[in-house]
Amino acid sequence: MLVDLVTIFPDFFRGPLDYGILRRAREAELVKVTVHDLRQFAHDKHRTVDDRPFGGGEGMVLKPEPIFECVEKLNVAPRDERVAGRAKESVIVLSAQGRRLDQALAQDLAGLDRLVLICGRYEGVDERVSEHLADREISIGDYVLSGGELGAAVIVDTVVRLLPGALGNDASTRQESFTASAAVPSGNAPSSTCDSGGLLDYPHYTRPAEFRGMSVPEVLVNGNHDQIRRWRRRTALEKTLRNRPDLMETATLNEEDRKLLAEIEPQK
Ligand code: SAH
Repeated sequence: MLVDLVTIFPDFFRGPLDYGILRRAREAELVKVTVHDLRQFAHDKHRTVDDRPFGGGEGMVLKPEPIFECVEKLNVAPRDERVAGRAKESVIVLSAQGRRLDQALAQDLAGLDRLVLICGRYEGVDERVSEHLADREISIGDYVLSGGELGAAVIVDTVVRLLPGALGNDASTRQESFTASAAVPSGNAPSSTCDSGGLLDYPHYTRPAEFRGMSVPEVLVNGNHDQIRRWRRRTALEKTLRNRPDLMETATLNEEDRKLLAEIEPQK
C-alpha cells in the first residue's frame, strides 16, 4: 500500500510511524509512507498556505491551490473512478465533519492500494478540496483536534495493522474489539475463541499469576480450554455491556452468549 500524507508540519510524522507494527510493516515494504510538505507547493515568497475566510469570521483557512497542486503531482486515479470504487485509491480529507472512523471503515481502507491523507489546520480546508479533489472526509471521533495530523496517524496505524502480514499472527486481529467477521474459526483451543462478533475484547493477563496479592482469574491457569473460552466470552460481554452498551445492539450473539449474559450480575 502507498500512503501519502499532505501536511504543513511534515516533521510531525517523525515518531508516530516509526515504532512497532508500523515500523516493521514499512521495513517489510507492506506500506510505503511519503510525507509531503504543503509549503513546497506555495509559490509566493512567504510560502503562504492559508488565507482569511470568505464571509468573515475567526481564523484562517487552508488555501486550495497548494493542496490541488500537491495531490495532482501524485498521479492518483481521477476522482470519479475513486468515487465509483473502480480505482483502489482514496484521497481523504481529515475533518471533524467527516464520516467517523471505525473498524469497518478501516477494513475497507485496508483493501485499497493507495491512500492520500490531507491534514487540515486552523479553521479547516477550503471546501473545494472535499468537493472536487478528495473522494471522502473522515473524522477520527466526535471531538475537535487542532490539526489533521494526529487523525492521519491514527488512520495509518489502524489500517496498516490490518494489511496481510503486518501482524505476526493474523488470527490476532480477528478476536479484537469491534471485529465482526463472517468466518468464525472452529475448534475449542483458546487461541481461536471465535471473532469478537462486534464486542469489545476480553481482559488479558500475563505472569506473574500473583502480583501484590492480586491474582489472575483461576480459570485462566487451570488449562480447561472450554472454560477459558466461555470465561473470555462472558467477560467480553460484561465489558461491552458496562463500557459500550451501544455495541450490544449490533453485536452478533448466539444461544450461549444469551446464557452467559444471564449470568452477568447487574452493576451496582
Ligand atoms: N472548524 C472545524 C475544526 C477545524 S480543526 C470544525 O469545527 O469542524 C483543524 C483541522 O483539524 C481540521 O481541518 C481537520 O483536518 C482536523 N481535525 C479536527 N478535528 C478532527 C477530527 N475529529 N477528526 C479528524 N480530523 C480533525
